[in-house]
Order: sequence, then structure tokens, then C-alpha cells
Amino acid sequence: MQYKRILLKLSGESLMGVQGHGIDAQRLDDYASQIGEIVENGVQVAIVIGGGNIFRGLSGAAEGFDRYKGDQMGMLATVINSLALASALQNKGVRSRVMTAIRMEPVGELYSQPKAVEALEAGEVVIISGGTGNPYFTTDTASALRGIETGANVMLKGTRVDGVYSADPEKDPTAVKFDSISFDEVYKKGLKVMDLTATTLCKENGLPVLVFNMDKKGNLMKVLKGEKTGTLVH
Ligand code: UDP
Repeated sequence: MQYKRILLKLSGESLMGVQGHGIDAQRLDDYASQIGEIVENGVQVAIVIGGGNIFRGLSGAAEGFDRYKGDQMGMLATVINSLALASALQNKGVRSRVMTAIRMEPVGELYSQPKAVEALEAGEVVIISGGTGNPYFTTDTASALRGIETGANVMLKGTRVDGVYSADPEKDPTAVKFDSISFDEVYKKGLKVMDLTATTLCKENGLPVLVFNMDKKGNLMKVLKGEKTGTLVH
């Protein structure tokens, strides 16, 4: 396997699957199978999931919600998604545990770096929920932070596109995909890989990010086998 320990970032939005809202059981099942497959091959997996399928603080604020409370709602949304994924993994016989950035036992145990690493070393999938625990941050930033803290070799950002393009491929037919790109080029070209806080955290701590399409079955395994897929930001 290409990487020993990974931080997998899944977006909340992609959990909606084809139904366009909430959590799609089929999509969840697909993700759980893909994750189970790499765990079987000895890869240590930490996961951070977004909450955009349920609530986003910024969109809430635009509708009149208080931003601070809205962000807390968003962080709780990531906990809901994390529990859903843990349940799907359990159905596949994959051992996992949910940790939370905010204390809320017995929903999950309070996140601590040593405990997370211990569980990873024991072959358990560790789902780190609740974002960073702070408003005004995103789950991309939480992924970068948790990836660095747990010593992941790479952050795998699962999206619904194949990688990083020169323009939005869903809008611009002339957009070209990068196989690999530096953090500096991402800044210079103003590419929307992640928010700048997350990008800077990865750059300053030397955590490479691989953006790939997680919605194509078998793609996660492809990445771990070192087959060419997605875009490596380094
Ligand atoms: N959030 C937050 N602090 C964090 C992570 C997330 O306040 O450290 C909130 C924020 O309101 C965000 C929401 O949780 O809009 C959902 O996360 P995100 O938008 O990153 O999820 P995604 O778009 O990946 O589904």
C-alpha cells in the first residue's frame, strides 16, 4: 500500500447521494465498503466528515441565524454524519470509533491525539467528528489539523470531481486537470482546492493532499495502490 496511515476527508454534501438531502444509505454503504477494503489491507484510517448535507453556519447566517450558533449546529451535523458512517462500517464488520471535538459522552469519546493514535495502531477506524470544535473553521481545516496531529502520511480529500482543475469542470469545458500541483501554485492561480486556512496548515506542516473522486467505486483502493488518479497537492 502507498500509505500506511491516512486522513480521509469526506464531504457532508456527497453523503446526500442522488436524493439531494439528508443521508443516502446506499452512498454510505459504498463508502463503508471502500473503507473496509483498505483497512483489510492494513491501512490505518482516520476520517473527518463534513456537515454540509445538514447545516452550514455560513448559509445559516445568510438566512438570519446567529453565526456562532449556526457553526455549532454545523459541527453537530458532522457528529450525526460520523455516527451514520460508524453504523455503516459496523454493518460491514469494520471496527471503528467516533471521537468528538466537543465533550458529549456517550455519543462519542472526547478527542485526544494519543487515544486516536492508539486506536489507529490497533487497526480501528477513527472517525473524528465535531470539526475543530471552534466556530469560523471548516471541516477541511479540521481534516488538516487531525491529519497533522495523528501523523497521517497524506490527507485524501474525497470529492465528486476527479481532482483539481484549472477552472470548474462542471461549468467550463476547456478546464484541464492537474496530476500534481504545488501549494504555491494553488495560491497563485487562486484554485479552490480547500479554504486557505486548511491549505496553509497543510503547506506549513508538510501534509500532502490528494484530491480524488470518492464516488467512483474502487477509487480509494486505486489511490492506496498508487495507481494514477486524482491530483496531488504538495
Ligand atoms: N464548522 C465549524 N467549525 C469547524 C468545522 C465545521 O464551525 O471546525 C461548521 C461550519 O458551520 C460549517 C459546518 O460546520 O459550515 C459544516 O462543515 P463544512 O461546511 O466544512 O462541511 P462540508 O461542506 O464538508 O460538508
